[in-house]
Amino acid sequence: MQNQIYDVHDPRFLGLIHKTAQIDTLWTGGRWTEGPAYFAAGRYLLWSDIPNDRVLRWDECDGNVSTFEYPCRNQNGHTVDLQGRLVSCEHRGRSVSRREHDGTMTVLADTFEGARLNSPNDVVVKSDGSIWFTDPTYGIDSDYEGDASASEIGAQNVYRIDQSGAMSVVATDNLQPNGLAFSPDEQVLYVSDTGQTHAPQNDAVIRAYPVLGETLGQSKVLTTCDVGLFDGFRVDTKGNIWSSAGDGVHCYASDGTILGKIKIDECVSNLVFGGPKKNRLFICATTSVRSIYVNAKGAAR
Ligand code: MG
Repeated sequence: MQNQIYDVHDPRFLGLIHKTAQIDTLWTGGRWTEGPAYFAAGRYLLWSDIPNDRVLRWDECDGNVSTFEYPCRNQNGHTVDLQGRLVSCEHRGRSVSRREHDGTMTVLADTFEGARLNSPNDVVVKSDGSIWFTDPTYGIDSDYEGDASASEIGAQNVYRIDQSGAMSVVATDNLQPNGLAFSPDEQVLYVSDTGQTHAPQNDAVIRAYPVLGETLGQSKVLTTCDVGLFDGFRVDTKGNIWSSAGDGVHCYASDGTILGKIKIDECVSNLVFGGPKKNRLFICATTSVRSIYVNAKGAAR
């Protein structure tokens, strides 16, 4: 089936969508939107508009959009931790931070072995409370999305922070690690590599890593993007992977088979499941935030 919204590549995709669902434009006016996070208790969505150095909030009840934080140290990816707190990746802060229940900010990580992080990009919290994040160079490559600077670490890694605050490197094989998410059983960590922005020969892939306790095993390429790059993505309760791409949202089975696409007329950077039933995709697409109901529910992490 092909229509204005959907490209169906596998019949299984028909069971994951509503043919009559529409794409809503919730807001427009950004320069590069990223990092959506849905707060069920507050019934709102937060996201970053990175070059404009602000975090915005959409109210699910009345549709109003307002500024949540400005300036915001060029925040990028967000997630909600097990206690319902906002965890943020900061380009200009070169850190991962947490907004506490009383509104104060805690820096969770800004250096590794004495060297400043590059510019944390995306973050996920595992069910044991550990925090996993990617650290590519996009926030220090120029002054557009942060402060231009050389990398102190000289590498673009994936890190883990445990409950005590101790940090470790868990993956080193991505040129520019970007989005990340766990499988529903947390046995696999998926990481996208957008290194093609810096090396055209680098394939735009999502890698799958077996989770071995506090570390990761050898990765394998799960799938390669056919239009643009995979940036942020999420996994549904059945293990399907819903990813950003250059032409919209791509949906893959857990073996990497493409099931279908939701076509968007702007490059998509990130998405999150939200709404009371977690069956609504909120999609950051360059200048705008879109949403569409799907017949799938977001996994917990
Ligand atoms: Mg990203």
